Amino acid sequence: MTRQSKLYDLMIVGAGPGGAGAAIQALEQGYSVILLEKAKLGSEGRYKACGGAMDWKLIEKLAYPEEKIERIIETLELHHLDGESYTKKGKGAVVWRSVFDKFLVDRVKDQGGAVKENEPLVNLEKQGEEYKISSPNGNYRARYVLAADGVTSPTLKQLKWPRFTKEDLIITVTEERKVANQHMQEVLGDHALHLFFGIKQLSHLGYGWLFPKNHTLTVGWGNQLIRVKNTADQFTKLLKLPLVRETLKKSTVEIYKAHLIPVGVRPQIWKENVYAIGDAGGFVDPISGKGIPYAIQSGQIAINTIKTCENKDRLDKQGRYFEETLEKAFLQILRKKRLARDKIYQDDQTLRQFLTLWEKYRSSEIIRRDLLKRIY
Ligand SMILES: Cc1cc2nc3c(=O)[nH]c(=O)nc-3n(C[C@H](O)[C@H](O)[C@H](O)COP(=O)(O)OP(=O)(O)OC[C@H]3O[C@@H](n4cnc5c(N)ncnc54)[C@H](O)[C@@H]3O)c2cc1C
Repeated sequence: MTRQSKLYDLMIVGAGPGGAGAAIQALEQGYSVILLEKAKLGSEGRYKACGGAMDWKLIEKLAYPEEKIERIIETLELHHLDGESYTKKGKGAVVWRSVFDKFLVDRVKDQGGAVKENEPLVNLEKQGEEYKISSPNGNYRARYVLAADGVTSPTLKQLKWPRFTKEDLIITVTEERKVANQHMQEVLGDHALHLFFGIKQLSHLGYGWLFPKNHTLTVGWGNQLIRVKNTADQFTKLLKLPLVRETLKKSTVEIYKAHLIPVGVRPQIWKENVYAIGDAGGFVDPISGKGIPYAIQSGQIAINTIKTCENKDRLDKQGRYFEETLEKAFLQILRKKRLARDKIYQDDQTLRQFLTLWEKYRSSEIIRRDLLKRIY
């Protein structure tokens, strides 16, 4: 007779903020958890192409240690390439995702979660009431699966779930450049992020950015995938802008990476005890590209859904409960932003008018209060 492996309550695939956030919540609720991560985390964590910008409220909520923050941010400088600039005030932080994600994974470990790093999911099958999951190193069993494995989600590919539409994918390029802090401070200011907009000149549906860290500058650019013929050429347009050129004097490129961002919700986000979390579900702000808080929140909502439906003995209601809770929490506003985005980016004049509003209001407030009707 062969001995069966342990049956976990939850298999979470992907140890980004979505997966790790869900694991922490699940362990707090008393569930047994196995967290599978394809990358090697080691003592430094793994690199993830990301601006690493987040609101101060999230830093406080997670009790993220200040010494792990790369830079405290006080303003967003929004530059339209037609010549106008706008200053948006608000406290935030820039972090390295390697450090941030590892901080969350360490919490999972501290709370007794099993973390399997350097172990990609390679196969997933439903057998009766449970899922059998295999990696190159082992086979696992779980009652629920959370796909928190990013925009390309190998888990959901295995299950043949519908993919994102091409219109909902943004292609990004990120360079991490070594730059002296004093030089960055002189050119960009000490506590500012810089965003560059221009439909004709830079990106049809996106923007470029300079996010200063400590001795490193994250230079990024994004555009709708279907509009891009040559990613490297388009990224070079950002590098040629006078402010960017000035900042990058004497800099050296350490990392160059292309990555996708999903900006529309996946057509299916739950089925038969499998939940799509974070980027795998398409839970990203379509205007700013912000995804970290939604990844964490969607993971927590998945766990609360399981708990609530188990307590009420209504497991048949999981999908509906998950979707409704997400809608109330943030999906409704993200869907509205997705529609608004196409209008905002219809031409440079409309985009500039939106930036004028964004200088004063949060983008969700602009949508909720329908302030855009002043524009179109
Ligand atoms: C260039 C860029 C800049 C961004 N800037 C910001 C920003 O400044 N602020 C912000 O809030 N958001 C930003 N985002 C969005 C943000 O990065 C994502 O929304 C966020 O990382 C989503 O978290 P996640 O946990 O869902 O997925 P991810 O962070 O993508 O994590 C997925 C994890 O799954 C693992 N994985 C993949 N396949 C497998 C497998 N087969 N088996 C096991 N593990 C697997 C991966 O290694 C990874 O660790 C940016 C995105 C990009 C691309």
